[in-house]
Amino acid sequence: MTAVALGLPRVRPAGAPSTLGRPDTDALVDRYGRVAHDLRVSVTEKCSLRCTYCMPAEGLPAIPRDDLLTPAEIGRLVGIGYRLGIRDVRFTGGEPLMRPDLAEIVRRSRAAAPGVRISMTTNAIGLDKRVGELVDAGLDRVNVSLDSIDRRHFAELTRRDRLPQVLAGIRAALDAGLSPVKLNAVLMPETLAGAADLLAWAVEHGCRLRFIEQMPLDADQNWDRAQLVSAERLLDVLGERFDLTPVGREDPSAPAEEWAVDGGPATVGIIASVTRSFCGDCDRTRLTAEGTVRSCLFGNEEVDLRALLRSGGATGSAGAPGTHVPDGGASDAQIVAAWQAAMWAKPFAHGLDRGAPDAGAVGGPADDPEAFARTERSMGAIGG
Ligand code: SAM
Ligand code: SF4
Repeated sequence: MTAVALGLPRVRPAGAPSTLGRPDTDALVDRYGRVAHDLRVSVTEKCSLRCTYCMPAEGLPAIPRDDLLTPAEIGRLVGIGYRLGIRDVRFTGGEPLMRPDLAEIVRRSRAAAPGVRISMTTNAIGLDKRVGELVDAGLDRVNVSLDSIDRRHFAELTRRDRLPQVLAGIRAALDAGLSPVKLNAVLMPETLAGAADLLAWAVEHGCRLRFIEQMPLDADQNWDRAQLVSAERLLDVLGERFDLTPVGREDPSAPAEEWAVDGGPATVGIIASVTRSFCGDCDRTRLTAEGTVRSCLFGNEEVDLRALLRSGGATGSAGAPGTHVPDGGASDAQIVAAWQAAMWAKPFAHGLDRGAPDAGAVGGPADDPEAFARTERSMGAIGG
């Protein structure tokens, strides 16, 4: 079994990264001045599909149940994140719908952080049966992954013949008013020929489609820069059928550049994570399903918050007045300090600190599309 299949990054003891030079602020700031407002929470490694660009055919090794964060632990961390400036929380995985207690996770997060927008990235299988309880619990939006509208092609890409279930899930999300429903499609040589059909379907059904350049985060490690379908190539293909007008980004930290389709109001987005890297504006922080903070998709260092949540108890100044100290766990202040330290150590870009302003490099990481550090965890194990 490979290191990727095992998915074993280097987990530091909580609080270990240096905070030398960190300003006195609650915010989750890093050494390059970026501030995290967007929290991705992976809730499971399990999935009902096996997309070739993400999972191995046999799935990821199972995480022991006791190692997964509980709904109460997730709710507590979301509440702490909210006090540190998090404004968007997105549940992901693996497939979040594989967790039977997902509504409880959403409910606890909503209660702990009433002002955040809560969304989920999902393949939508089974969403038709659960969308009601999720909306009642406080879910605001969904992003559904859909790479092809052709059933045979979908089955090849995902190694499962489940397109009808995905479409039922999307319909249920639309009916429940979870708008806008965004669709994510990973851009690969295989998806290019059907890209215009997928866009036509999205426009017809009132969904906002975004294409994502494939990143080297597949568990099988088949990613090859030479095979990458660029945003430019996709625009050429879509341009043969649609009139596309650039309309920019929703906001500067939004990863997708948008184009109006046939004069609008429908749009199509492209997340050019490889050819037009947006690391300089990254405002994300991630929690893995086992409760480690990951400051960057491509950094292998993680800080273990679960160990703190389940540790023997708060001590000294960490238990200062006004901080929450649950029975038998660390105080909020201890968790805050560990999370802030993890984010202070966030690398500059995909290639870690290559191209960073203080590394004396000429040009930024966008000039160096090869600068991807290989990760020990795949996308399904990190939480995309
Ligand atoms: N199972 C859910 C889903 O597919 O939406 C959530 C987890 S999935 C890992 C989150 C997102 O990561 C999906 O939109 C998926 O397409 C994307 N993804 C997975 N592997 C990727 C890769 N190698 N490059 C770019 N995006 C990837
Ligand atoms: Fe599962 Fe999502 Fe990965 Fe596809 S992209 S295998 S649906 S986790």
